[in-house]
Amino acid sequence: MTEKINIAIDGHSSCGKSTIAKGLAQKIGYTYIDSGAMYRAVALYCIQNGLIKDGVVDESALKTKIQSLQIEFRPNTTGGADTYLNDKNVESEIRSLEAASAASKVSTLKFVRQTMVYLQQQMGKNKGVVMDGRDIGTVVFPDAELKLFVTAKPEVRADRRYKELINKGLDVEYNDVLANVIERDERDSNRAESPLRQAKDSVVLDNSDLTPEQQFEWTMVAYQKAIDKVTQTDQL
Ligand code: C5P
Repeated sequence: MTEKINIAIDGHSSCGKSTIAKGLAQKIGYTYIDSGAMYRAVALYCIQNGLIKDGVVDESALKTKIQSLQIEFRPNTTGGADTYLNDKNVESEIRSLEAASAASKVSTLKFVRQTMVYLQQQMGKNKGVVMDGRDIGTVVFPDAELKLFVTAKPEVRADRRYKELINKGLDVEYNDVLANVIERDERDSNRAESPLRQAKDSVVLDNSDLTPEQQFEWTMVAYQKAIDKVTQTDQL
C-alpha cells in the first residue's frame, strides 16, 4: 500500500486552490480540509455577535470566546463537507463577501491563528490530508511531503469568483469582487502574523492560462513525484 503523505496547497485568494485540493483529495482518497473556512467561521461568529464594527474586531471579546468556538467539518450529501459553527451548518453564510473580508481581518490576530493552527495540525496528524490555505506549507505542516503554491492574475481570479458568486444567486458587481481580491492579497501578504509566503520547497502553479483538466494533470504529476520521492527515501 502507498504510504500516505500530507499535501499543503497555499496561494492567493480565489485562484482555485480549493478546486485543486478537492479534486486531488477525491482522486487519491485523502481528506480535504479547507482552512480558510475555519477563519471564515470565526469571522461569521464576530459578525453575528457584534464583535466586528466598522471593520474593527473587538479583540479582547474574541479572545475570551475563541477557545469555546466549535468549528467542524461534517460530510454533506454531495460527497463533500460542510462547515459547522457551534453545531450549526454555516457553509453558505461563510461564503459571502462580508465574511471573506472579516476573515482576512480576524486572521491577522495571533491568538486566532494559534488556535486554528493547533486544530489544523490535529486534523493532519495521521497524514492523508490535503489542506489549502495561506500558511499550510510554512506553518501548519512545514514537513508536508508535497507543497503547492498556486497563483493567477488578479483579474482572472476576480472573474472566476464573480461567476461563482453570480451562479450561487448572489447580487455582486465585478469591480467589487476585483477590489476584494486585491484588498485580501494585500492584507494576506503584509500582515505581521504568518504572512502569505511561498515555502522554499514548494512547487509554483500559475493557472491563469490553464484549463481545469490541464491543471488536474499537472497536480497528479506533482503528487506522483512526491510519492516516488517518499518511497525512494524509505528504501534507502
Ligand atoms: O481561502 P479563503 O479565501 O476562504 O480564506 C478566507 C481568509 O482567511 C483569507 O482571506 C485569509 O485572510 C484567511 N486565511 C488565512 N490562513 C489560512 C487560510 C485562510 O489567513 N490558512
